[in-house]
Amino acid sequence: MPCSPNISLTKSSHSKLSETDFSSLVFGKVISDHMFIADYQNGAWGDFRIVPYGPMDIYPGNATLHYGQAIFEGMKAYKTKKGDVLVFRAESNARRLNESAKRMCMPEFPEQHFIEALRSLLDLDREWVPQEKGSSLYIRPFMFAMDNYLGVRPSESYRFMIFTSPVGAYYTKPVSVKVETNYTRATEGGTGEAKAAGNYAASLYPAQLAQQEGYDQLLWTDGKTHSQIEESGTMNVMFKIKGTLITAPTGKGTILKGITRKSVIQLAKDWGQKLEERFLTVAELQESLENGTMEEAFGVGTAATIAFIHKIHVNGKDYFLPESAADAFSKHALKTLDGIKYGELQDTHHWMLSI
Ligand SMILES: *Cc1c(COP(=O)(O)O)cnc(C)c1O
Repeated sequence: MPCSPNISLTKSSHSKLSETDFSSLVFGKVISDHMFIADYQNGAWGDFRIVPYGPMDIYPGNATLHYGQAIFEGMKAYKTKKGDVLVFRAESNARRLNESAKRMCMPEFPEQHFIEALRSLLDLDREWVPQEKGSSLYIRPFMFAMDNYLGVRPSESYRFMIFTSPVGAYYTKPVSVKVETNYTRATEGGTGEAKAAGNYAASLYPAQLAQQEGYDQLLWTDGKTHSQIEESGTMNVMFKIKGTLITAPTGKGTILKGITRKSVIQLAKDWGQKLEERFLTVAELQESLENGTMEEAFGVGTAATIAFIHKIHVNGKDYFLPESAADAFSKHALKTLDGIKYGELQDTHHWMLSI
């Protein structure tokens, strides 16, 4: 398929494909040959182009660098055994980008242009989608302010871009987490629901403290009382206690509306799995770990799809979860999602976009 007529194309004169070792990919290190760019000026998006991936000029007065109007998305493309390229739930990412844009006072990037740009870029760089089981092409759409102006106000110009990065089979080693009851990721009325760059900047320091204590990630609690489990910062979290799946509800503005979360909830419904979208309190979490009624704990997000949690630190104590059984809900969900993503299971919910 040729590039969309709305998009001008400048091909890279030297592909990095032959110099790339697909057997030892480190997450985020290797970037594919091309990137998509669109600029917003005078109230409209234009100048859609695909060019070789490379540096760009930014004024020191660029508003993003000072006031942080920057949002992003994360999604993946997979290659089937037959060599077809499939993207998981791309329309949901396009929609969520625009929800984030609204909160950060940025213009929407129309969904049909988002999909068109994605299709053109992935078609051009389809050789970059790795085929080995478990590997995929990570896709990073993002938008940021472009005004060269120091006054505090929403920027009037913006740039939307997409580039991609081949990633190897994600670490399936179970993760350890620490319940954070001092620092806050999000609070009602804040920006926690937006996939905004600043949310990540604010969470780096507490996450680093936890890593120095030997934990992989944090389990954030609500900003007001620190008594309810929210999510894990790059993943939503789910628990199975006494046969019931429990995950924090979205809609209060503090939980990122994960597309993996939404998909796992759909599978739970398909399978008649008992499910409660409610806040689990820190006390309940600790009690279920004390009395052994916590059956499963796992993170859900694009990077790992499902990350099993084997250790939880809460109120000064470490609790260990036994490796869940082969028929555990989380294992079944991971297998099913992988099957759909690699085109091996029927895509009954029409989640996959074929490039
Ligand atoms: C991106 C993200 C997630 C996971 O969302 P997916 O759409 O499943 O990848 C969860 N929490 C936060 C804070 C995020 O930024």
